[in-house]
Amino acid sequence: MDLHSGSPYWLLLHGLKTVVPPLTRDRTCDVAIIGSGITGALLAHRLAADGVSVTLIDRRDLAQGSTAASTALLQYDLDVPLHKLRSRIDPGLADHAFALGVRAITRLEETAKSVSVPFERVPSLYFTADQRSLDDLAAEHDARRSAGLDVRWVEREELWSRHGLVAAGAIESAASAQVDPYELTHALLADAIHCGAHVHDRTRMTGLTTSASTVVIATDRGPSITASFVVYATGYESAASLPPGLVSLRSTYALATEPIESSAAQARFTMWEYADPYLYARWAGDRLLIGGEDEDFTTPAARDRLIGLKARSLTDRFRTLMPGLSIEPAFAWTGTFGTTPDGLGYIGAVPGRPRELYALGFGGNGITCSALAADLLADRIAGRENKDSALFCFERTLNRKAHTAENPSDRVSS
Ligand SMILES: Cc1cc2nc3c(=O)[nH]c(=O)nc-3n(C[C@H](O)[C@H](O)[C@H](O)COP(=O)(O)OP(=O)(O)OC[C@H]3O[C@@H](n4cnc5c(N)ncnc54)[C@H](O)[C@@H]3O)c2cc1C
Repeated sequence: MDLHSGSPYWLLLHGLKTVVPPLTRDRTCDVAIIGSGITGALLAHRLAADGVSVTLIDRRDLAQGSTAASTALLQYDLDVPLHKLRSRIDPGLADHAFALGVRAITRLEETAKSVSVPFERVPSLYFTADQRSLDDLAAEHDARRSAGLDVRWVEREELWSRHGLVAAGAIESAASAQVDPYELTHALLADAIHCGAHVHDRTRMTGLTTSASTVVIATDRGPSITASFVVYATGYESAASLPPGLVSLRSTYALATEPIESSAAQARFTMWEYADPYLYARWAGDRLLIGGEDEDFTTPAARDRLIGLKARSLTDRFRTLMPGLSIEPAFAWTGTFGTTPDGLGYIGAVPGRPRELYALGFGGNGITCSALAADLLADRIAGRENKDSALFCFERTLNRKAHTAENPSDRVSS
């Protein structure tokens, strides 16, 4: 799959970074990880630190998948707002899913610090510029407050006077952050290698043989990997091998601005619009990263043709929202993006294949989900029970789909 194109900012900033050799001989280990993005890196780092023997392969150079294109706002919010999620799944579980997101951001902070990668805690503003959405956003604020989340309602006047944002209202959340996802991924992989993990790029998994106690992974390089478990941290490319209906792929757009001189004086926050199409933004040094304008298709040619148009549209929209900031787009890119019916990713095994584990952080807060995946799968591999795994299992969507097919009147619109 063509995961991104254009000029992703982190790639321009850092280049290839860590380069490792492809797989040249057979390996035997406890866990084979397929994929060197932020998800595979967090898991490899965690397992290697726990003394688990790990071999990780990636068909590309390291971290060149979606992670390189990510704008990496770290949010606990799911794509489905809490007040809507509460009517789709058990309300207590919905609240717990949001609380887990908060915890995951703290885990990411600890992990980033452990490998000396800067991690910025910044408040987020989930805002609407449209008066007609105000009641809905207020309902979301009330749901979050009643779930015990650290949120505050911000009125139009304060948004303008404190943030220079022209909007009708917003939810301010304390528990959000931002990081350079590409730097973090490389630092985690380097540390995992230091702790004994074997990491090989330009090595594609081409097949799998399973027995009661092992999996054998065939690769396009010839040598194979024999392991007790395989973890697919293969991002959106996994969609093709999953049962239909589990994930919808879309295209999303982003840009990095030219450096902004006034940024030193600007209070830092991330912003996310409650709208469709939506816009979001964060700071990266003295540049802004602005994204959104999703499209429902993923055909690379059609998607890529729109990069210029979408960059102009995001720039114009941002200028309307924050007229006090003078921005010029410098680099623009596009990428594939996946959403799930309830906004939660998939972590765990597909029914009937217990040695094949998935770590799929689908959704707007994909990286937060990757952090949860590292903890949940480390527990699963060690044989420790983790009650949170039920929230992310494949069965929740597969069973709901089967139930809805039998009872069409139960369909819930988003
Ligand atoms: C423009 C954009 C903006 C985003 N913004 C945010 C954001 O603000 N916040 C957020 O949380 N998330 C965001 N995301 C989503 C986030 O980037 C993803 O959730 C995250 O990067 C997924 O990481 P990953 O490691 O799971 O996947 P990837 O980074 O795609 O890594 C998967 C790896 O698996 C490898 N692979 C696949 N198949 C094989 C195979 N057969 N053999 C060997 N290797 C294989 C690939 O080469 C790839 O390197 C954004 C995404 C995009 C595109």
